[in-house]
Amino acid sequence: MSQTATTTQTASKEATSKEIGATSTLKSVLNVRPTPQGHWVGDGFPVRTMFGYDTAAAVTPFLLLDYAGPHHFEPAMQRRGVGEHPHRGFETVTIVYSGEVEHRDSSGGGGRIGPGDVQWMTAGSGLVHEEMHSPEFTMSGGAFEAIQLWVNLPAKLKMTTPKYQTILNGDIPEVALPDSAGTVRVIAGAFNGHKGPANTFTPIDLWDTRLAKGKGAEFHVTPGHNTLAFVMKGAIVINGKRLKEAELVELGRDGTTIRIDAEEDTKLMILSGEPIDEPVFGYGPFVMNYQAEIRQAVNDFNAGKMGRLGSTL
Ligand code: MN
Repeated sequence: MSQTATTTQTASKEATSKEIGATSTLKSVLNVRPTPQGHWVGDGFPVRTMFGYDTAAAVTPFLLLDYAGPHHFEPAMQRRGVGEHPHRGFETVTIVYSGEVEHRDSSGGGGRIGPGDVQWMTAGSGLVHEEMHSPEFTMSGGAFEAIQLWVNLPAKLKMTTPKYQTILNGDIPEVALPDSAGTVRVIAGAFNGHKGPANTFTPIDLWDTRLAKGKGAEFHVTPGHNTLAFVMKGAIVINGKRLKEAELVELGRDGTTIRIDAEEDTKLMILSGEPIDEPVFGYGPFVMNYQAEIRQAVNDFNAGKMGRLGSTL
């Protein structure tokens, strides 16, 4: 925690000095995360983990970002995916760009999402779920691309009742940027007065952004937020730093402005959120504040307190 406190103090000093004589200030660039080695989650999701909860202080309130694909799946008879497993203490947000994912959990939540759709699952006090390719996508095969983001819950909400939100493409406002520079799909929070459909426990903006080659735009975030940008396709210069495909940038808590210029047609996700400056202790699919709470989570899961999935035909 002392490390986090130091970071906050430094950031606010920088913000003060930059604000002199300016109406808005560029957020500082802290770190560019290079493209990591990939691994498989089950047999359905070839992912690159752009960050995990081992570095939570720098990215809070976000805990993890897995970039699945792009990957071409051949047609198959047997559904691919990841079978029954638990979560406690946070939320999983799955954003599909290509392919179809089906979710089923022990709290009764479930649904199918396809291109442009989002599922926002609150694990809270705990559930078990499976994440599979849809039967149709399994049989047709084709391109698969998705993001799974883990969003932390503050200590007082970690044991909240599990919840599931299906957010369909049509429910997500798409806002045009000035000068035909591109578009922003507002999944959560707000952008230029357009509110996103996701219900979040702490203030979060999720902006699914497209920028046209040679164009640029400014984005304004809430003061004090941690902000990340992740490029899926294309290349940009963001607050003076070049970012290319499958790279992620962490911006400081200082300032409120992000200036992005696109060198190519670009698809990127901008994530911004109010920091949750609490201890993070994670173990696999459980993310709590202290080790004792992890032991409790493992015991509760083993005792069946997070439920079980019934078999389906
Ligand atoms: Mn899961």
